[in-house]
Amino acid sequence: MGLQWGLGKKRKWGETAGAATASRTMDKEYVGFAALPNQLHRKSVKKGFDFTLMVAGESGLGKSTLINSLFLTNLYEDRHLPEASARLTQTLTIERRGVEIEEGGIKVKLTLVDTPGFGDSVDCSDCWLPVVRFIEEQFEQYLRDESGLNRKNIQDSRVHCCLYFISPFGRGLRPLDVAFLRAVHEKVNIIPVIAKADALMPKETQALKQRIRDQLKEEEINIYQFPDCDSDEDEDFKRQDAEMKESIPFAVVGSCEVVRDGGTRPVRGRRYSWGTVEVENPHHCDFLNLRRMLVQTHLQDLKEVTHDILYEGYRASCLQSLARPGARDRASRSKLSRQSATEIPLPMLPLAETEKLIREKDEELRRMQEMLEKMQAQMQQSQTQGEQSDAL
Ligand code: GDP
Repeated sequence: MGLQWGLGKKRKWGETAGAATASRTMDKEYVGFAALPNQLHRKSVKKGFDFTLMVAGESGLGKSTLINSLFLTNLYEDRHLPEASARLTQTLTIERRGVEIEEGGIKVKLTLVDTPGFGDSVDCSDCWLPVVRFIEEQFEQYLRDESGLNRKNIQDSRVHCCLYFISPFGRGLRPLDVAFLRAVHEKVNIIPVIAKADALMPKETQALKQRIRDQLKEEEINIYQFPDCDSDEDEDFKRQDAEMKESIPFAVVGSCEVVRDGGTRPVRGRRYSWGTVEVENPHHCDFLNLRRMLVQTHLQDLKEVTHDILYEGYRASCLQSLARPGARDRASRSKLSRQSATEIPLPMLPLAETEKLIREKDEELRRMQEMLEKMQAQMQQSQTQGEQSDAL
């Protein structure tokens, strides 16, 4: 450690010719920073990765089939499908399923959040409210855990991404889609997908994609923004990245069936009298692009956006409402104030001040935790001393 600091200082402050030469010679020596990525890699591999994915959209759009195809696992083994008549009155429920996937020594703990009953009932004007509530509850839980004493082992159950399934048979987003996406777009990374794309001709797919993109813009719905590609990435990666961005909303086909293409190559696909639609063929659908981004290239970014932007937004709004203790009163008293026709503005703490308060609280909690640890150590010490004197 001492050597590292010494080097840093020499490089920064060494202005004389002698020092400069010494610095140049040292440049060639090996300190070991180059191994830092390995350290981080080992640590992350040991810890494993976790990811929470939500799927939403009407029943029958192929959500479970796509998830099984994406992760090559049967996450829906225990699934119970209600009768068509029961679905008319069914209310939306939230189901959580977990699976641990291991590949090449890397473990991923995938939690899938499904929303059976979405859009099923005759009146589904607000049917999506439990989904919004669920996403918020995960933020609430995280905020509570973060403000608690034991912040080291927080279980992150926040939803990192929501795959939203759009019907291929409509003319774009329906009112239910718009209402749901509006309600959640500030709370979760939305990735829209056109389901059952094998029902569309390539031209129809492109037209539907454009229509959806236009609607999202008109309705000011923010979907997940892909980060810009690093300029030092190789051309192949840049091309793949550009292709991926252009294919949003991803037009996907799912199948858990392996069929033989022309009797030779076994492929995952859907067979028709006119031919086979291959799930993993980029000329047939965007399945591979979706899988590549979800698993290989953007998993970490989705988690970071969830934490740094979406959760931070939620946290800031919580802090603001905490700093406005009268806000709730004002809402409940709105009738009264309308009658009296006078509106007294409530004082609101600036955000910086609220953050300061929270930092102070954090500091207080840290001190309390330290005190507790000291007390526990003292108790343990006196216990062992007692035991020793008993033994004597
Ligand atoms: P979920 O209710 O949204 O989970 O839908 P399922 O995955 O249970 O699929 C409903 C039906 O659609 C099943 O009969 C699937 O075989 C079929 N299906 C699933 N994915 C596709 C697809 O990409 N194309 C077509 N044509 N059918 C599909």
